[in-house]
Amino acid sequence: MVSRVIPVDPFDLVIFGGTGDLARRKILPGLFRRFLAGQMPPESRVIGAARSEYGDDEYRAEVKAALEEFIAKDSRPAKDVKAFLDRIHYVAIDATGKAGWSDLKKLLRSDVVQAFYFSVAPSLFGPLAERLHEWKCAVKDARIVVEKPFGRDLESARALNRTLGDHFDESQIYRIDHYLGKETVQNLMAVRFGNMLFEPLWNAQYVDHVQITVAETVGVNGRGAYYDKSGAMRDMVQNHLMQLLCLIAMEPPSRFDPDAVRDEKLKVIRALDPVDKNDIVRGQYVSEEDGESYLEQVEDPDSLTESFIAMKLNISNWRWAGVPFYLRTGKKLKARASEIAIVFKDAPHSIFGQELGRHRNILAIRLQPNEGITLGVTIKEPGPGGMRLVDVPLDMTFKDALGPDGDEIPDAYERLIMDVIRGNQTLFMRGDEVEAAWAWTDPLIKGWIERGERPKSYDVGSTGPEDAAVLMHREGRKWRDIKA
Ligand code: NAD
Repeated sequence: MVSRVIPVDPFDLVIFGGTGDLARRKILPGLFRRFLAGQMPPESRVIGAARSEYGDDEYRAEVKAALEEFIAKDSRPAKDVKAFLDRIHYVAIDATGKAGWSDLKKLLRSDVVQAFYFSVAPSLFGPLAERLHEWKCAVKDARIVVEKPFGRDLESARALNRTLGDHFDESQIYRIDHYLGKETVQNLMAVRFGNMLFEPLWNAQYVDHVQITVAETVGVNGRGAYYDKSGAMRDMVQNHLMQLLCLIAMEPPSRFDPDAVRDEKLKVIRALDPVDKNDIVRGQYVSEEDGESYLEQVEDPDSLTESFIAMKLNISNWRWAGVPFYLRTGKKLKARASEIAIVFKDAPHSIFGQELGRHRNILAIRLQPNEGITLGVTIKEPGPGGMRLVDVPLDMTFKDALGPDGDEIPDAYERLIMDVIRGNQTLFMRGDEVEAAWAWTDPLIKGWIERGERPKSYDVGSTGPEDAAVLMHREGRKWRDIKA
């Protein structure tokens, strides 16, 4: 199947922080792939804006180097790279001063879609918004894109929302959570709301529990100073895992439109119960190798910040009363794997007898690697010798139809950037959503800080602290294996 490319209007996309790590690794390679797919109309331009004193040619050389590093050789024919680079421009700018702003103003056009990607430290969001306004760079419906972290608590998130809101309308602000740009996450909505089959079962009567796992193999190396001030709760749960939970738990929106979807997500966050301290397990990785333990990779040798967290949440509404949602995420775990699993209840009566074991339907939504959705169904094991039951996956990925190795699946960033250009906010977090998520998160963090709680140790390459397993075992449940 050839993926259908929906054209977008011509645009000027300004990347503040265009020389930074995120721009090099994700934004520029993503834009190049969209260019290759024919989604960048000829009049469109990408304008890097950062502190380095580059001219267009020097920046183009940087962009070229980034494409060489992050795009496979046979996916970047020289003539396409050249044509893409022709659309790249650069302005040296100071986000906190005057330098460069009149150059940027001169370069921008008012008759194309304008988007400003704030790929810079959050402390620069305010100064950038102010200067865009002051120098009258942005047209009335210009879009701004902001990266995580969006605040570190409710107060700072509110302050950021206010600062951006002083100069831009909420309809112009795109808060990126790249988990929402993943193909499977959107497929989850298609599966849920495009079929008759699942929605009737999607509630406390049929679902035993839900597991959401985002496991990483990387540690904090190099990012220790930033990470230690944040921890797994702020860095992953408050945003990514919370967004996934919302999509699973929300009521069907009346339409697939930005506010209808985001209204329903917000209701989920507001229906979350406070979490009991006994339902939270925090961890820090340890290793026998020198320099490999968490505490050796951050500045504070007594740090109480968690590199792992597992928790049990309850959603107080009719649909989910009594259905636990188990979340876990951590660094230096056994494999890199992100998955949502909806575990259905046992059949009410087994006509086959207990000796054939317990078989449950599990809908597994895999975000990485190998994005896809499978439904575990129980069938008879083939062959003679009586009735034996076996669980087999019903694959809803249609990978073959999507091209070899799913190559045609656009990366989350490129999809989201194109949504910005289209002016579609459905997959972006609204300000009130972010604030509600912090309002739920803050007291939990405050609680463990006040108690001076030390995270439990877990071995590098394991599935997390033993207590995380106990969180499930004590209720007769078990985490799914973390498999790459
Ligand atoms: P980086 O440090 O690699 O790059 C920062 C960029 O900001 C550079 O281009 C620099 O020139 C520019 N800059 C700094 N001060 C400036 C100023 N006064 N005026 C103009 N430009 C200035 O950072 P990064 O890793 O690319 O991250 C950018 C943002 O994206 C941060 O908010 C980060 O938290 C977020 N983010 C990054 C990643 C990632 O993988 N790198 C992932 C998620 C979110």
